Amino acid sequence: MTELSRDEQQRRWEAFRARPGNRTCAECAAQDTTWAVLDYGILICIHCAGAHRALGSHISKVVSSYDRGRGPHSTHARTRTDTLT
Ligand SMILES: [Zn+2]
Repeated sequence: MTELSRDEQQRRWEAFRARPGNRTCAECAAQDTTWAVLDYGILICIHCAGAHRALGSHISKVVSSYDRGRGPHSTHARTRTDTLT
């Protein structure tokens, strides 16, 4: 897999979020989606991300848009947005 630059990752993330409905949290309808649930391919708000994280990563894998390019989950985030972009 080709490593994407941080700028390219951010550009793809913003392009994905710009799609209709992607700025609305899939859980509570808040208008600030800064987290993604990798298992379901949905975007959620920071409050719902906390609930997902409390479930444990064996049930729900969530990543923050701000974590992209760092940590073990960033590879999954890149793969997901690569697929969805
Ligand atoms: Zn929410």
